[in-house]
Amino acid sequence: MSPWIFDNRFLRELPGDPDSRNQRRQVTGACWSPVAPTPVASPRLLAYSSEMAASLDLDMDVITSPAMVEALAGNRLLSGMETYATCYGGHQFGQWAGQLGDGRVICLGEVINRAGQRWELQLKGAGPTPYSRRADGRAVLRSSIREFLCSEAMHHLGVPTTRALSLVGTGESVMRDMFYNGNPRAEPGAIVCRVAPSFTRFGHFELPAARGEHALLAQLVNFTIARDFPNLQASPEQRIARWFGEICERTARMVAHWMRVGFVHGVMNTDNMSILGLTIDYGPYGWIDNFDPGWTPNTTDASGRRYCFGRQPEIARWNLGKLAQAVAVLSPDKEELEAGLERYDNIYNAEIGRVFAGKFGLRAWEDEDAKLVGDAFDLMQYAEVDMTEFFRSLARIDVNEPKPQVLQEAFYREDLYGQYSASIDDWLKRYVMRLRRDGEPPQERMARMDRVNPRYVLRNYLAQEAIDLAERGDPSRVQALLEVLRRPYEEQPGCDDFSAKRPDWARHKAGCSMLSCSS
Ligand code: AMP
Ligand code: MG
Repeated sequence: MSPWIFDNRFLRELPGDPDSRNQRRQVTGACWSPVAPTPVASPRLLAYSSEMAASLDLDMDVITSPAMVEALAGNRLLSGMETYATCYGGHQFGQWAGQLGDGRVICLGEVINRAGQRWELQLKGAGPTPYSRRADGRAVLRSSIREFLCSEAMHHLGVPTTRALSLVGTGESVMRDMFYNGNPRAEPGAIVCRVAPSFTRFGHFELPAARGEHALLAQLVNFTIARDFPNLQASPEQRIARWFGEICERTARMVAHWMRVGFVHGVMNTDNMSILGLTIDYGPYGWIDNFDPGWTPNTTDASGRRYCFGRQPEIARWNLGKLAQAVAVLSPDKEELEAGLERYDNIYNAEIGRVFAGKFGLRAWEDEDAKLVGDAFDLMQYAEVDMTEFFRSLARIDVNEPKPQVLQEAFYREDLYGQYSASIDDWLKRYVMRLRRDGEPPQERMARMDRVNPRYVLRNYLAQEAIDLAERGDPSRVQALLEVLRRPYEEQPGCDDFSAKRPDWARHKAGCSMLSCSS
């Protein structure tokens, strides 16, 4: 029995690979390959998202039932499920990487819920596929916890994202060399069930384009517009450019949200860019603690810093440029594609102005505010100020009597607080002058700021604490974090442990300040 009705359009409407052997290979002329999950030893449901379960019409007793847990581990198929891995390529760290594909993701099909919404389900870590290249198709518990928690945390923050339904321990171990330094160890394995209206990536279009498979590319574009952009209005000549413009707009909005909440994706390769403008593929991502636009959580990126916090808007645009190149052969109007990139710039600039106005509690963004805001970010960087803590404290500044002490909790180092207190004092005087011009009642301003400046984010060390405990067999901290992160903008009494800025021990600890792609 299945609690779901499936309507597997990706399989039905796009060409599949005729070869059904599960062997690593180049797959041409097809968008997907049939492949079944590899069963695991002893699945255990470690956590699930009740909101996502509700969106999929699942009661608690259904999602926790042994049959469902087996399905979420890839050990059994529910009726209507048809399993496959999709074929895509991508630019990794700026270089064309050729075929990549779902190397450890197995799609289960597309559920239509009672509200009529379409949700694709995938198991990440469900075993090898034709796209696994040299790797094992599995995922470790630490990275699965990170993907599970962050997907849901981002959703609750209001950031467009793919979602996570469940986190299942496999009861098997996986060998990983976490820092690629010749020290492999056996780690517990896990599987996340991911959910999104579509998991299509820029790389899905880049691969057929790079191979000169133009008919396949056209088919995939038509399919994507029909299934994932049903409201797109355009004449036949303008269809592709309009569609591309829509992707540019969604991507701009997504990145502006990342900059608002202090999220660093860490691997913005084109195969990790969603066509729907959703945050996708939570790997070596991180959250800004002390404000630093040059910070990247990804050790593989440490030398080039291509994917550091401050460069995300520029990299997203670069990735869109690659998508534009891929679909250019189908578009009669090249200038219209260029206009899509301009739309990215315009939307991003408008959005980031709104973001800054919101974060600083200004009623509306004015161009002259750039200096005030820029100076604050400079100060935060030089004085090592915690981003999340700073903005919550800033909302509590008294307009008539601004005191730097109100911000003190946001500083990591007392000496820097001392060193910069005069500059902070000066800045605050300018800031309150600006606020007075708005004349908004303080309580209203604070409430408005608190709606865009989260109290709780998935700080790197918090995720690591939950991982350490779960690796010892206790997933309770994962569940506790998920619970707090459901209401990230509300002060939650008794939850100070989840908002505290990074403790000293976490400053240089693996998993807390630096992560590798090994997962
Ligand atoms: P990522 O850096 O996670 O976006 O992954 C890049 C590519 O490597 C994708 O095609 C993944 O499917 C593949 N990949 C990553 N880890 C594994 C793994 N353990 N087994 C198979 N494929 C993997
Ligand atoms: Mg990926």
